[in-house]
Amino acid sequence: MDLTPYRLTAEPYYHPTGHEIALYEHAYAHRLPLVLKGPTGCGKTRFVEYMAWRLGKPLITLACNEDMTAADLVGRYLLDAEGTRWHDGPLTTAVRHGAICYLDEVVEARQDTTVVIHPLTDSRRILPLDKKGEIVAAHPDFQLVVSYNPGYQSHSKSLKQSTRQRFAALEFDYPAAEAEADIVAHEAGIERALAARLVDIAHQSRRLRERGLDEGISTRMLIYAGVLIRDGLPPVDSCRMAMTAPITDDPDMQRALGALLESAF
Ligand code: ADP
Repeated sequence: MDLTPYRLTAEPYYHPTGHEIALYEHAYAHRLPLVLKGPTGCGKTRFVEYMAWRLGKPLITLACNEDMTAADLVGRYLLDAEGTRWHDGPLTTAVRHGAICYLDEVVEARQDTTVVIHPLTDSRRILPLDKKGEIVAAHPDFQLVVSYNPGYQSHSKSLKQSTRQRFAALEFDYPAAEAEADIVAHEAGIERALAARLVDIAHQSRRLRERGLDEGISTRMLIYAGVLIRDGLPPVDSCRMAMTAPITDDPDMQRALGALLESAF
């Protein structure tokens, strides 16, 4: 199996926010399964991409959702011209051939889906393919990385202790103001001063979390707004479209966020 399509060809831009690179390298050296915890859009996916590139390993990423079944991860028999044939799912491909497998938003997956990862995350490092009657021993390079956002999980959607205790964890948050402005300026291709202004709006929005906003404006949203401004759209329109309108439907909160924008520009 050729994993070339899963190899990163260029170095992803990643601005470290602490010593997460060294921590990851140690975790990878021991093939520890890792959970990346943190709000959406704060850089978890980019970090895994960067680490896969740095370690020279292929990366297979899968966004989890509630309709996902175990077969979507491990594989299934499919009918083709020669009859039924087994097709490895993305997790099995990673396990068999030695990729880093990144399951984004793992708590979105159903419990029966998450249990398939259990034998991979202890000393056995195996993946049983029940339907096929095969037990796949993990390739020495295989590592499992999952992410989740502890901020907006309902209790039923948090990770079960039996799953949690199999992982080492790295905690992420939005980067500190200076770093976040550098990131937004770089990614959106805008001036540093404008990026800093966007970051300031994000900080104010993140403070509104105590007043009922589910999530503040993420780094990703700032980049989108920056791109629109670079295109020539008026800043307030850009920020409304990319930052404030998407995050809440509450009219009072919209008004509060709108006021933030008006005073910023
Ligand atoms: P998450 O996986 O946490 O939802 P992403 O990794 O997709 O978030 O981050 C969203 C975007 O923010 C990325 O595409 C990248 O442009 C930018 N970003 C966030 N943090 C960083 C960082 N530390 N270094 C470089 N880019 C970052």
